[in-house]
Amino acid sequence: MKKHNFNAGPSILPREVIEKTAQAVLDFNGSGLSVLEISHRSKDFEVVMNETVALFKELLNIPEGYSVLFLGGGASMQFCMIPFNLFEKKAAFLNTGVWANKAMKEAKGFGEVVEVASSKDANYTFIPKDYVIPTDADYFHITTNNTIYGTEILTDIDSPVPLIADMSSDIFSRPMDVSKYGLIYGGAQKNLAPAGLTFVIVKDELLGKVSRYIPTMLNYKTHIADGSMFNTPPVLPIYSALETLRLLKANGGLAEMEKRNIAKAELLYNAIDNSKIFVGTAAKEDRSRMNICFVMKPEYKELEADFQKFASERGMVGIKGHRSVGGFRASTYNALPIESVQALVDCMQEFEKLKA
Ligand SMILES: *Cc1c(COP(=O)(O)O)cnc(C)c1O
Repeated sequence: MKKHNFNAGPSILPREVIEKTAQAVLDFNGSGLSVLEISHRSKDFEVVMNETVALFKELLNIPEGYSVLFLGGGASMQFCMIPFNLFEKKAAFLNTGVWANKAMKEAKGFGEVVEVASSKDANYTFIPKDYVIPTDADYFHITTNNTIYGTEILTDIDSPVPLIADMSSDIFSRPMDVSKYGLIYGGAQKNLAPAGLTFVIVKDELLGKVSRYIPTMLNYKTHIADGSMFNTPPVLPIYSALETLRLLKANGGLAEMEKRNIAKAELLYNAIDNSKIFVGTAAKEDRSRMNICFVMKPEYKELEADFQKFASERGMVGIKGHRSVGGFRASTYNALPIESVQALVDCMQEFEKLKA
């Protein structure tokens, strides 16, 4: 049976990327060696690193004055690495869910943290909009896509202080204006590569200003100076990321990706909105294009387990909602074809005909 992979992360990668990665594991560039057994400092890998950085810059249209870093530790490591490098006395946060809270928790160890707004009381079903960013904060932190709740900030917002964004689950999903951000980071395992790779895009002029000692491995300057080769970088996920980026470029770049992501999201949200038994959980104006969350209406609640089974018997994988939202979550990352979304919609409609 054909599987439709809606996993939230690690998640679907283009088949072509998986095949190219498998090929490089067996024989990298016709060298007779596996990409798993070469030096990260070899000429061959240097080419991979350089092209990956170049494609990051090209596809995201990153202006001069920014560095692109490939690190370990996951997005979660950035929750402390960012304050180590940028927090002097105060940082501001928009509280849009679990990941924003984890970032805030780490920052609290460094000084005053201001929560400018929160949608916690509504179980993070919307993105707060009326808030004031303190102009004396060292930075303002947002989570652009809230993977668990299915809300997303789809515009590049203005901030009077450096804007820091966790883009773990929506990087490369739309064209964006990097110049509005001071730092963008994320784990690569949602929309880019297998787990193990963390990307950081940082505006160089923000660094070197804090008064504390920064541990060498946690200092962005260390990694900038050595082109992400201060220590051994995650070689294999970087190789896969390169293949993903090559494919993105060949397929029309981020404008085309955005078009496809909008079409996929509309297809599924329309089905949810026109359903008698399903209902979306996120506020319509803040709906994510990457993680689409829905539940059974109260009068059909007892059918949830049935639908879970019904869908998995038809090849749907990974649609169980996060435990803090319940119901269902379909992650519709770049690599997910619209045919899979259509298959899920068909499955929902078939179920509704049978049960409602
Ligand atoms: C998955 C996720 C994280 C955590 O990433 P790790 O790489 O596992 O640390 C952080 N933020 C967001 C928005 C995520 O989706």
